[in-house]
Amino acid sequence: MQSLVDGYFRHIMDECSADRSGVVADYIPQLAAVDPDGYGLSVCVHDGHTYSQGDSTATFTIQSVSKPLTYAMAIKRHGVVAVDEKIGVEPSGEAFNEISVDDRRRPKNPMINAGAIFAASMLLPPSRAFGPAAVEDAFDELLDFYSGCAGRRLAMDEDVYASEASTGSRNRAIAYMLDSFGALETSPDAALDLYYRQCSIRVTTDDLAGIGATIANGGMNPRTGRSVFSGETAQRVLSVMTTCGMYDGAGDWVTSVGLPAKSGVGGGILAVLPGQLGIGVYSPRLDEHGNSVRGVETCRHLSKDLGLHMFNVTRESRVTIRSVYDLADTPVSGEWSEQERSYLQTCRDRLRVYELQGDLTFAGAESVHRRLEADLDRYTVVIVEISRIGLIDAVARTMVLSIKRLLDESGRRATLVDPDGVVRASVARHREDTAVPDLDAPQDLQGFDPALPHVHATMDDAIIDAEMFLLKHYYDQ
Ligand code: GLU
Repeated sequence: MQSLVDGYFRHIMDECSADRSGVVADYIPQLAAVDPDGYGLSVCVHDGHTYSQGDSTATFTIQSVSKPLTYAMAIKRHGVVAVDEKIGVEPSGEAFNEISVDDRRRPKNPMINAGAIFAASMLLPPSRAFGPAAVEDAFDELLDFYSGCAGRRLAMDEDVYASEASTGSRNRAIAYMLDSFGALETSPDAALDLYYRQCSIRVTTDDLAGIGATIANGGMNPRTGRSVFSGETAQRVLSVMTTCGMYDGAGDWVTSVGLPAKSGVGGGILAVLPGQLGIGVYSPRLDEHGNSVRGVETCRHLSKDLGLHMFNVTRESRVTIRSVYDLADTPVSGEWSEQERSYLQTCRDRLRVYELQGDLTFAGAESVHRRLEADLDRYTVVIVEISRIGLIDAVARTMVLSIKRLLDESGRRATLVDPDGVVRASVARHREDTAVPDLDAPQDLQGFDPALPHVHATMDDAIIDAEMFLLKHYYDQ
């Protein structure tokens, strides 16, 4: 049975499939021979679940959608500083195969052919004296990396590779221009060979969605759990996809779709909503920029209809606080003496619950923080209920912990109801990630150590903890 979400995707495809404009790439016979009406859509969400529609299992060559991956590999191997020395990050405003460089004689960015061929050259041994086996080895590594991103073993189309290699005069011109500047450490022919191979890898839209979700997920494939590259690399790749990914139509793309993306002349588009999902679309008829006509339209619909524009800034902060209430109408729950119970009953309204939902990132944490601060005079104990929180990022965690400090300082108490251990996991991750702990964090983290009583698995436990705190006040008076 189709889910509601599948229904949305199907509907979007129905809307876009009437458009038969554009032309299939024909610079090599293999591309010209594809079914022009082929159309697939896949969306891979944060936990790896993939929605697949239409021709989602049909394979096509990845072509320029390979460029962000080879760039990620070059960064993984050499570090971002070394790569920046060689390849710029400025949108070129020119066609993808323009024979041009910036004023430092670097390719303007890694999403045009000059930058992509350069990135491929950086995966080869830094020498001119190696045989074909070295290119094979480099390609094996490249294929492993791409396969890790897709979450399944990919393969190259030998015929497309042979055709690309025999017709690629323009790419040869680019590689030889770069070589004439003395920029390449390897032979231009070896760099071209690797580049033609990477362009000839066959993928499906399911693969592109998996690759997109891996980038969205900071380099870890959500289907396999395998980490392929770092979060910093993912951030860099997303940045250049945003500014340079859609050939010379990047500005229009960012404003109307707002998803970092890369398209290829094979008809594929890979789009990413950072932190959330990856999208793969395939339809081989291309517009004047070389982007899939239906692919672009499909992404436009996805962004608009499902609110996926990356600058959809208000959404998270709007939904983060699900409800707020005090416990004036709920009876005292702990097993206390008569006298204690009646005291607790008088301060029932000093106990306030904030239920949060969604993914707690900066925007959401900031609004919660501000709300708790504004309400400070209305409670002595605040119970923050986060059973509907999916994840807490580093900034949000620090902000949540600083709420505890704020309340401690004013003689109040913050308790957390965290049945799934989201905070615990986040703190543990932080400890693993922080080789050298920052000065501020350790005391915060100790403050919310899961062994301490103010992180609770249930609301009942949190209320009893709150009652104990209030009684302590009572006896201290
Ligand atoms: N193999 C193609 C080329 O380098 C890829 C072009 C593209 O997808 O933009 O010309």
